[in-house]
Amino acid sequence: MPSRIAIVGGGPGGLTLARILHQNGVSVTVLERESSFIYRPQGGSLDIHGDSGQIALAKAGLTAEFQRIARYQDQEGRLYDKQGTLRFLEQSTEGDRPEVDRGHLRQMLLDSLPDGIVRWNQHVMGVAPQQDGTCDVLFADGSRKRYDLVVGADGTWSKVRPALSAAQPEYSGIAFVEMGIHDIDRRHPAIAELVGHGLTFALGDGMGLLMHRDANAHIGFYAAFNGPVDVYAGKSDAEIRNALLEKFANWGSNLTSLIAQSDDVVAVRGIYWLPPGHRRKHVPGVTLIGDAAHVMSPFGGDGANFALQDAGELAEVLMRDDWRERLPEFEEAMAARCEGPAAMANAAILKAFAPDGFEHSFATMQQLMPTGTVFPAK
Ligand SMILES: Cc1cc2nc3c(=O)[nH]c(=O)nc-3n(C[C@H](O)[C@H](O)[C@H](O)COP(=O)(O)OP(=O)(O)OC[C@H]3O[C@@H](n4cnc5c(N)ncnc54)[C@H](O)[C@@H]3O)c2cc1C
Repeated sequence: MPSRIAIVGGGPGGLTLARILHQNGVSVTVLERESSFIYRPQGGSLDIHGDSGQIALAKAGLTAEFQRIARYQDQEGRLYDKQGTLRFLEQSTEGDRPEVDRGHLRQMLLDSLPDGIVRWNQHVMGVAPQQDGTCDVLFADGSRKRYDLVVGADGTWSKVRPALSAAQPEYSGIAFVEMGIHDIDRRHPAIAELVGHGLTFALGDGMGLLMHRDANAHIGFYAAFNGPVDVYAGKSDAEIRNALLEKFANWGSNLTSLIAQSDDVVAVRGIYWLPPGHRRKHVPGVTLIGDAAHVMSPFGGDGANFALQDAGELAEVLMRDDWRERLPEFEEAMAARCEGPAAMANAAILKAFAPDGFEHSFATMQQLMPTGTVFPAK
C-alpha cells in the first residue's frame, strides 16, 4: 500500500476515504482549503442510498453513527403545480434512502478521524506528477510536498483534475438559489405543512421551488430557474428575495411564502456537469473521486452517494500490494458505473426546467412512486 497518501478535499468523498484508510492502518492526510468545519453553511439534506452511500459508510465502520443521524421519516415525495395545488403525494417512508443533513454527515466523518489527519487552510493550486510515479502537491503559498498518491476529492472545480484531463464542467443553464427558514413548526406551521417530510417540488414555467425538511425544524429550499449563474452577483439577501418574488409573481402565494419568509440566502449554486462517461488518462501517482471525477446534475440524488461509493472502492484498492497496477481498473469501473446515471440525471433536470417541466415530472413521479396518490388540478 502507498505509505504517503494525500487526499485533496474534505467533503463526503475525501473524508470517507480517509476514515476507511485510517481504520485499516493506512496513514493518510486530508488537505482542506477551508479554515474549519464552521467556515461555511454546509447546505441542505442528502438522501443516502442503501445500495451505495450506506455500503461505504458500513466499510468505514460508521453504520451505528449514521443510524443516529439518518431521518427515515423524511422520505416522502410531493409535487405541486405552480398555482400551489398538491398534485402528487407519496407518504410512504419505508424506502432505504433516509435523509441526513450535510452538516451532520460531515461532522460524523470528522469525529471519526483523530486530530491531525484533516489539515485545514491547505489551499491546493495543482499537482505535478513525477517520473518515478510519485506526485507533488502545489500549495497557494508556493510550497510543494511529495506523496506516493494524491487523490483529488476536491469537487466540481478540482485543481487536481487538470493533471489528468482538459475537460471543464459545463454549465447546464440552470441556477439554484439556496435559501432556508429556521424554527419552521413554531414560526410558519403552514409552510411546514406544505413541505411535509421529504423532498417536495413545485414546477412550472421552466422554474421550480425544490424544498426539503432538514433536522432541527429547518426547511431548506432552492428557487431554481434558467438563467446565468451570476444573475444575482453583488446583490444583498433582501434584493435577491425581492427579485425572486417578482420572478415567481404569478405562482401560488402558499409557495411564494417560502421566499417571502426565508431567513437567509445561503448561496447561488449553478448546476454544472462533466460530460457523462468522461474518461481521464491514467497518470501514476494521482487519481480522482466524487465530483472531481464525475460531477453531475443532482436530479438523480447520486452525487454524494457516488462520492462515498468511490471512496469505499478506492480504499479497497489502496489496501492491496498491487495498488498501482489496480488503479486504472478502479478508474474505468468508476467511470462506467457513473456514466448512465449521470446522463439520466442531466436529462431529467433539463426536462424538469423545460416549459412543460411540470407535466414531465408529474408523469415521472407516478412511474417512480407507483403507490403515491394523484390529485386533480384545481
Ligand atoms: C443544488 C445541489 C443539490 C444536491 N443534492 C444532492 C442530493 O440530494 N443527493 C446527492 O447525493 N448529491 C447531491 N448533490 C451533489 C453533492 O453535493 C455532491 O455530489 C457531493 O457533495 C460531492 O462530494 P465530494 O466529496 O466529491 O465533493 P465536495 O462535497 O464538493 O467537497 C469538496 C471539498 O474539497 C474542498 N476543496 C475544493 N477545492 C480545494 C482546493 N483547491 N484545495 C483544498 N481543498 C479544496 C472543498 O472545500 C470541499 O470541502 C447536490 C448538488 C447540488 C449543487
